[in-house]
Amino acid sequence: MNTMLLGAWKTALRFFGTCFNEVGFYLVRKLLWRFRRPRYFILLGPPGSGKGTLATQLAPALQVSPMSTGDVFRREKAANTNFGKQVTAHLADGTLVPDSLTLAIVRRELIRPRYWFGAMEDGFPRTQQQATQFDLLLAKWGASVERVVLLDVDDDALVDRLSNRRTCTNKACGRTYNLKYGRSVKAGICDVCDAPTAQRDDDVPEVISARLRTYRVETKPLCNYYQNRKVLASFHPTGDMTAQEVFVLVKTALQG
Ligand code: ADP
Repeated sequence: MNTMLLGAWKTALRFFGTCFNEVGFYLVRKLLWRFRRPRYFILLGPPGSGKGTLATQLAPALQVSPMSTGDVFRREKAANTNFGKQVTAHLADGTLVPDSLTLAIVRRELIRPRYWFGAMEDGFPRTQQQATQFDLLLAKWGASVERVVLLDVDDDALVDRLSNRRTCTNKACGRTYNLKYGRSVKAGICDVCDAPTAQRDDDVPEVISARLRTYRVETKPLCNYYQNRKVLASFHPTGDMTAQEVFVLVKTALQG
């Protein structure tokens, strides 16, 4: 009985939260966007190319919030919501979550207060359909994608990075480490929040290969789409570039 009540309470809270976001976002669009234009940026790149870290660092510099669809899906899965139940199998085998579901989740995220003035998308869009639908959604709101950056990293480097990646298990932190190139000070413990670090379920060899295959087939072709729209800048970060150098280059490209 208690569990049922708690479930109903959580559903009601989610419903009221969404209503608040819809109304708030509508008012912000109508009243405030004329004074401060929203800015939407996209980071494209294979799994392990560093999109997540860069998005978190770059977003504040461009006064937007970072959004990782992978993180959103993992959060839904952990909370065992309806969305979460539908994405679980895709997270496990490295296949893409269906476009309609992804777009519904992204729209729901974008109307949350932290994205009212724009977003730095990490991991979205990943298919042609997502890209066109995203453009349509933004156009309906009177906005558009400002700039897209492709991080083009070689496969060997990606597999090496992903299989050695360890991620902070505290969802609010999510800091990543690398067993070869950037360990935490205390083994297995996050430097920032002291939570344990762990290997993500999909950072294992079979799933890594599936994710890289999916990227080549589904996402890489998006570069042509954004190239034709003249909003794409491509980078091939080499092993001898420091994280700071990559950050500065990408920031400059995003600022146009
Ligand atoms: P990575 O980019 O390193 O593969 P993410 O955390 O971005 O990791 O994504 C993890 C998983 O979430 C993907 O393998 C896929 O199943 C799902 N996913 C994330 N973003 C999308 C998207 N835009 N469309 C469909 N599925 C997605």
